[in-house]
Amino acid sequence: MNTRILILYLPSPNQKMLPTPCLGIAVLKGYLKRAGRDVRIDDIEMKYWEKDITTIPLLRSIVRKLPLWFNNPKKIFLNTRQVNRYLDFNIPHERMKKVMSEWEKLLIEPAASFTHIGVSVMTTEQLAASLCFAKYLKEKYGVCIILGGSFMTQRMSLLLECYSFIDYIIVREGEVALDKLLGGEPLENIENLLYRKGGEVKVNPLAAAYADNMEPDFSDLPFSLYGQKDVIMVPYEASKGCKLNCSYCVPGKKPLYIKNPKTVVDEIERIKERYNVSYFSFSDNAINISRDFSIRLCEEFIKRKLDIYWTAYFIIEDEPMSYFRLLKKAGCIQLRCGIETLNEKLGHAMNRRIDPDVVSNALRKSSAVGIWNHLFFIMSYPGDTWRDVLKVLFFIISHKNFFKSATMSCFNISGIDQLMENHKYASYQGTLICRKVWKEKRCGLVYRKYYDIFFYLKSILFKWMLWACGIYFNNIFSAVKDPFNRRLYFYSAFYQWRTGDKHAAEDRM
Ligand code: SF4
Repeated sequence: MNTRILILYLPSPNQKMLPTPCLGIAVLKGYLKRAGRDVRIDDIEMKYWEKDITTIPLLRSIVRKLPLWFNNPKKIFLNTRQVNRYLDFNIPHERMKKVMSEWEKLLIEPAASFTHIGVSVMTTEQLAASLCFAKYLKEKYGVCIILGGSFMTQRMSLLLECYSFIDYIIVREGEVALDKLLGGEPLENIENLLYRKGGEVKVNPLAAAYADNMEPDFSDLPFSLYGQKDVIMVPYEASKGCKLNCSYCVPGKKPLYIKNPKTVVDEIERIKERYNVSYFSFSDNAINISRDFSIRLCEEFIKRKLDIYWTAYFIIEDEPMSYFRLLKKAGCIQLRCGIETLNEKLGHAMNRRIDPDVVSNALRKSSAVGIWNHLFFIMSYPGDTWRDVLKVLFFIISHKNFFKSATMSCFNISGIDQLMENHKYASYQGTLICRKVWKEKRCGLVYRKYYDIFFYLKSILFKWMLWACGIYFNNIFSAVKDPFNRRLYFYSAFYQWRTGDKHAAEDRM
């Protein structure tokens, strides 16, 4: 039987961050298809996004008004006990069975028509749902199960030790490794592969296996579901790795790789024509990961008159006004910048030194040319104080005219524990001064949890100050059912640009 692979992006029980087409599985599809593989992809998260706890029309219209916590059939996968009962003892909760059979019905083709099922995992919550559904498919159809995605690190070899229904795990970029695996290459020759041999779990060496040709193919994805009022945000990645080395960051620690700006523009042009879209979201760790690259890319956009608009992460640096004008002219609507902390000592612990003057100047310049600045803050980092909270509140007041939206997240030690490869994890431990830490086991992984009892109070103060200054607040994860809620900062920026800010278009003339 010829190999056929279906690669899935499965629902996250707490709703994913943004309703955008999944880039990772689209890149895999593009690469594998060009390599002659029979591959399909599917975004069950999007297809299941608006599912309610009831299908009875009258009740449905009522429960849809409730917050996600109450009206969320996927919530069962947040229940550690039920997840562990299914994964460890094969006792599925009735609701879990029902949800998984609904997911199966949504698949682009019957699962039985594939020899391999790949699952892309991005978060802890998605891991629980993905493992359960992978087990469900394995038991029903006996397919080969491969896990991949940004949540997979060498540490996930523990999953292979715990769960026999997983056949392979691919760490980092999956294109080359998956192609070799489907092509039947000896397992020990496939970089970034975790597998079993003779009852033992084997971990192949990591390599920067960046494929030359990473143009995404979104054609299987339910494109019509992603957009509303003509705003469909298509993600695109022009680089890997990061020039900084923040201590808490896992994705940034990959080797640096940057595409040729001409290739980027060629690919974006084809995506624009093929899917009739104009809005892009660069998912690179920063568009200015290389200053030279960002300039050449913008010049190419302008030269080719692509007429696209985009949002990107940005590492705040001391740049002249002409630099921000260039970004704007090339279609930049929004820059997303990590401030993280204003405490010098914590910045040092995070290996992230932020110069307040550089931040102020950059925000002033980019907002002056009409770019929507979105800022990220981290609160409750071990060691932060109320003085730091006051500094952030004062920063908001003094910079309220220079940024339009902000996100505040709680320092997440569990994410670091789950993802860090062992040696890096060990060295990271030394930098922590935790006030309250405990351990938890979920899906075969033991990790630490940290909780600052004042986080909610800090969060309320932060939100109140933003509200008082007329700035949008966003959670990292959207806790609302409406996927196109205007409060989502990506969409807010683009809606506002489309409806109000006519000057932006004129600037580009
Ligand atoms: S700037 Fe962002 S991507 Fe780069 S290392 Fe820091 S947290 Fe990671």
